[in-house]
Amino acid sequence: MYIFPVLKGDKHMFGSSDIGVDLGTANVLVYVRGKGIVLQEPSVVAVDKESRRVIAVGSEARRMLGRTPGNIVAIRPLRGGVIADYAMTEKMLRHFISKADGGQKLLFRPRVMVCIPTGVTSVEERAVRQAAIQAGAKEAHLIEEPFAAALGAGLDVFQPSGSMVVDIGGGTTDIAVISLGGIVCSNSLRVGGDKLDEAIVKYIRREYSLVIGERTAEELKIGIGSACPQGAEDVSMEVRGRDMISGLPKAIAVTRSQVYEAIKETLGLVVGAVKGVLERTSPELAADIVNKGIIMTGGGALLDGIDRLLSRETGLPVYIADDPLSCVARGTGRALKSMGLLSAVDRAKKLKRIFNWPVFPDERGASEKILENYVDESS
Ligand code: ADP
Ligand code: MG
Repeated sequence: MYIFPVLKGDKHMFGSSDIGVDLGTANVLVYVRGKGIVLQEPSVVAVDKESRRVIAVGSEARRMLGRTPGNIVAIRPLRGGVIADYAMTEKMLRHFISKADGGQKLLFRPRVMVCIPTGVTSVEERAVRQAAIQAGAKEAHLIEEPFAAALGAGLDVFQPSGSMVVDIGGGTTDIAVISLGGIVCSNSLRVGGDKLDEAIVKYIRREYSLVIGERTAEELKIGIGSACPQGAEDVSMEVRGRDMISGLPKAIAVTRSQVYEAIKETLGLVVGAVKGVLERTSPELAADIVNKGIIMTGGGALLDGIDRLLSRETGLPVYIADDPLSCVARGTGRALKSMGLLSAVDRAKKLKRIFNWPVFPDERGASEKILENYVDESS
């Protein structure tokens, strides 16, 4: 059975490749070394309420959201940026890892790098690591979301120069300034795409007495939503929901400026948080960011005008990473490759803690030496 891959010289024939997982609040992506992104599915699990049996995972389960009969519930186990349902998170992670691994994990077990939302506690971290091991990983490593995002966006995070990443996901927005392989200054807020959808639901209910589902609200946001609609044509989109007064289904047309009206306050929270991190950034690193600009990743970066809004509010150049939805997953892949370097940085940080050795950018000279002396084993 394995003769063909051998003849083709496929080095991944035994499924021993390393795997990177972006365990997002909205989407899970799996990256396999040598293959790229092999799986991208919503973080949704459909479960039988009584037996707790998993009925469906990913895209199939998402189609069931809001449409399940009484005994089945479709849940988003990571909603809001915390592991709301540990058992389900574990099942979902196992499902995706084994799906990506093509069921070959019995021969050689992969190393797995999981990116977790920043709000996750250390107990939950252990749980995720355990789940990855249970799913067949030989080793499981964790990486923080903004760091993976920066790696995926192609930033050289190991240089003694500051880069700023803003990742807007479903449940959280992560803002971080990164230098010398570490996060220097950051903030994570429980505001992301989901909060924008909720704001649209509320707005439509208030203005039209019409109840729409969150998925419909998301369609409005993606279809005509804008963070900076000035100057654009005020297009509209038809949505359906249930009239609160008559109780009957009804369709209405919603305009772009109305969607903006609905989401602008929530967007303000993101802008405020970015400014907050900039204020806490040291002048040296701030100067680097003025030069390099802010890099945006995550699905929220696809919202029309979000870059213009941030740029207008901060006065800095803002760039959207290539394919922002898959940035973190590609970053986990790069992290697997740079594992040697990452652990060198980790070791350096430990030395700093124990012997008070310098590693941070305010003591640039010494930290540059640490990195210069380090040879990346994987390259
Ligand atoms: P997470 O990392 O939390 O899983 P993602 O980075 O996958 O989140 O982003 C998911 C969020 O991005 C969702 O809230 C989704 O509505 C939003 N999103 C995806 N595409 C767009 C788009 N074109 N415009 C605005 N928002 C979008
Ligand atoms: Mg994410």
